[in-house]
Amino acid sequence: MVSEAERRAARAQLEELVERQARVGTADVVGYFPPENVAQRDVFALAGTHVDGTQWTVGDHAHRFPLQSISKVFTYALALEDNGREATLTRVGVEPSGDPFNALTFDDANRRPHNPMVNAGALVAADLVAGSGPEEKIERLMERMRLHTGNHDLAVDADLLDAQLADADRNLGISYLMRSMGMLTGDVEDTLRVYLAACSVMVTATELSVAGATLAHGGVNPRTGERAMPRTHVRDVVGVMFTCGMYDAAGEWAYDVGIPAKSGVSGGILGTIPNHLGLAVFSPGLDVHGNSVRGVAVCRELSDRFGLHVFADPAESRLGRTADLVWTEADEAGGEVGDVVEEVDG
Ligand code: GLN
Repeated sequence: MVSEAERRAARAQLEELVERQARVGTADVVGYFPPENVAQRDVFALAGTHVDGTQWTVGDHAHRFPLQSISKVFTYALALEDNGREATLTRVGVEPSGDPFNALTFDDANRRPHNPMVNAGALVAADLVAGSGPEEKIERLMERMRLHTGNHDLAVDADLLDAQLADADRNLGISYLMRSMGMLTGDVEDTLRVYLAACSVMVTATELSVAGATLAHGGVNPRTGERAMPRTHVRDVVGVMFTCGMYDAAGEWAYDVGIPAKSGVSGGILGTIPNHLGLAVFSPGLDVHGNSVRGVAVCRELSDRFGLHVFADPAESRLGRTADLVWTEADEAGGEVGDVVEEVDG
């Protein structure tokens, strides 16, 4: 049982971390998406939802931002649910591509995109979603995302969708190439619409952390008790997040941070630690890979300080994973609630 004192002490740690990261890291920013979003550069949100449903938030946690590529997680989950693992695997692989998210590269030997976390693979996953046409597919995807986040009013930003549809040459190019090679069937523009509608869904960091907790909780939303996806496919989705979720920085991320995650060019990152915690960060300002600069920095530090790497030795951290981000040692050491407890590295 987590006491209020423990929660407040953990909160002080998290606030200090966000405040410090908000002041650093901007030198590494190479871009914003869309570029005019530079006006949002100071928005910074961090949220966590535990599998017991408890929650903490820091910063601009109620700010809404588009899922962008984070939606690939939910599109793939629904493709698996609708088609099963084997049939889905014949259409989209699970190997990291090592290429940028919008690369025109494919797993030529197997005639499929490398994985569902890059654009080519997500377009095929969108094609695999069951439905009589794009609107039904979008509605089914929305319904699942509402279950994952617990926000039953979750919606597509129509202006953003229009803007993305009007600027889709690259995704159209990927789609037509795939169709010419037999990787994609059907109407390319319909598939693109489904994919980009999912990218245009607006969420808060808090809602996204609930989605992370739902994945951590075997597909059942711990806040609402509703099932968002079949248990059998949770490991497929989380596995591919771990190996492919951070584009061409996925290997380094898995090694250093060690949290199954998915990023989007809006500046959001969704993380999930099986059986423990869902995490979400939002901070615009992207690195060369298209990942949020401060988001990556915060996750790296969170992972280090709280021992969240899925393969971490619990003894590596003051807390260990089992302590679930709760600063129990503050109380044991007799520290004041809310004190920032000294780090004891090394
Ligand atoms: N809408 C974007 C695209 O397909 C999403 C990309 C992303 O978040 N990496 O280009």
